[in-house]
Amino acid sequence: MRGSIPCPGPEYVRYGGNTSCLEVRCGSRLLIFDAGTGLRAFGRALGEQGPLEADLFFTHTHFDHITGLPFFSPAFKRENRFRFWAGHLLPEHRLYDVLCDLMMAPLFPVPLDVLKADISYVDFKPRETLEPHPGIRIRTAPLNHPNGATGYRIEHRGRAFCYVTDTEHVPGKMDENILGLIEGADFLVYDSTYTEAELPRFTGWGHSTWEEGVRLCDAARVKTLVIFHHDPSHDDAFMDRVAKNAEKARPGTLVAREGMVLGA
Ligand SMILES: [Zn+2]
Ligand SMILES: [Zn+2]
Repeated sequence: MRGSIPCPGPEYVRYGGNTSCLEVRCGSRLLIFDAGTGLRAFGRALGEQGPLEADLFFTHTHFDHITGLPFFSPAFKRENRFRFWAGHLLPEHRLYDVLCDLMMAPLFPVPLDVLKADISYVDFKPRETLEPHPGIRIRTAPLNHPNGATGYRIEHRGRAFCYVTDTEHVPGKMDENILGLIEGADFLVYDSTYTEAELPRFTGWGHSTWEEGVRLCDAARVKTLVIFHHDPSHDDAFMDRVAKNAEKARPGTLVAREGMVLGA
């Protein structure tokens, strides 16, 4: 839910202070999107059930989307199997190498190899369509973010769920890549780090606004907008105001909270 850096504290308890991590269930299949600090709690919630098989898709590899990985307990168990996917790194980088760099002395005490689960790493190119399992189709699109990022559209049994963070919009011009990705979807979880009033101070930082989310959803006939990647300076009282204003602008709009469940 939270962007940039986790923010614990009493003024953040209702919306949550952990950084990005989403669980998507398609039938019996488990898909995870991003490995922010929320991933640690999710790993604990999965508990001792196993063996576990899951796909983890990274929007990109900025800290706030990967730092939960070394604390994801299911990745330490030999009987579990994962595929990690990223679409923003080729041709200069590969996901495996980037994650090795994250867990490297003297920045981190143990290397990536301590994750004993059977993990494979898949680098793909933006705009590729992925089919991790029969009946699950994932369309992807490049986003406008420093070092790149990937937007996802997950299609399963006639439903579509879109996850689009982190991305910056050009004021007055909707992003064609995003419009094409989200057309007619049931949900759009969208980078709403700033409000429109704040945005001019953060040009080039790679983030968008909930107001742009409203415009995109209206233009692409998306059913429900979910405001996401809250700025760490936006406490619960601030987010309550965002929720109220967004409800006025587009009734039914949701503000992401830790543990929130969306029924597709
Ligand atoms: Zn982020
Ligand atoms: Zn980022």
